[in-house]
Amino acid sequence: MNEIIIVGSMALDSVKTPFGEVDRVVGGAATYAAVAASLLAPPQVVGVVGNDFPPETLEMLQERGADTSGVEIVADGKSFFWQGVYDYALSERDTLVTELNVFGDFNPTLPESYVGSRYCFLANIQPQVQLAVLDQLNNTCFTMCDTMNYWIENERAALEEVLSRVDLALLNDAETRQLAGMTNLARAAAYVLDMGPDFVVIKKGEYGATLVSDAEYFSIPSYPLPDVVDPTGAGDSFAGGMIGLLAHQDECSTRQLRRAMAFGTVIASAAIEDFSLAGLERLDTSELRRRYDALREIVRFDAMEWEQI
Ligand code: AMP
Repeated sequence: MNEIIIVGSMALDSVKTPFGEVDRVVGGAATYAAVAASLLAPPQVVGVVGNDFPPETLEMLQERGADTSGVEIVADGKSFFWQGVYDYALSERDTLVTELNVFGDFNPTLPESYVGSRYCFLANIQPQVQLAVLDQLNNTCFTMCDTMNYWIENERAALEEVLSRVDLALLNDAETRQLAGMTNLARAAAYVLDMGPDFVVIKKGEYGATLVSDAEYFSIPSYPLPDVVDPTGAGDSFAGGMIGLLAHQDECSTRQLRRAMAFGTVIASAAIEDFSLAGLERLDTSELRRRYDALREIVRFDAMEWEQI
């Protein structure tokens, strides 16, 4: 099996949505991505947590085949803490609190068993840390990165270096516009491609995601859900599902990337049906398959030859 390395935050989150609120539950970009990827291929997780992070979460990851030897536990520290509140449509969120805690000094040295990993997802984290991880990997065939508005504004040079070294940049629509300094998404995606990656995937929340390269343009809708409870971690679960499928298939063609987006979409749909990791943990192979088949049907249409019109 081809290993995946996932690097990013492992957090405690307090989240309020119109459908409820939770206090200091497990979250973090790497956590969501690792649980998602583990449905398809075993991830090697890199992160740092404090003494307040539930050991059961690390055990759960291990039970799902993940390697957590790259997760540092700081005995006298507190985990990264994030608090957010969502609007009525669940499309906007305000960050109320970000406490870096042990995450502030995060400078990982990868375990020896990680450095030959073939697939890599650098979740939203300081670009200098993303670069330090890339420097330690010696056998990657496909790397993806995420980022956020803060790094685009404050660490642009390091972020540009990351983008020049990864194969795929995963951004939401606002980040794509901000990075490119232009409002038209097609032009903004082309601008980001010029910065280095072969592919840009633009996440559009409930409106799905779009893959852009010099030769390709592909869009997939989100999986329609009657009950969305908490969108936190949707993007990270999408990314984990994508990298999981690529590693599972051990191929990074655009054909596989389109499939990977479908798996990411379906897996993200499970993540947002509940708070914290509960929805993802409930997703089993039969439900994954059911949603995958349903999504295929949603995007299928019988093309008619132009001459028949
Ligand atoms: P997403 O909804 O995909 O953007 O991911 C939300 C997760 O990212 C939450 O579980 C948070 O713990 C984590 N998070 C929020 N802010 C940051 C940040 N500044 N750096 C790293 N992770 C963050």
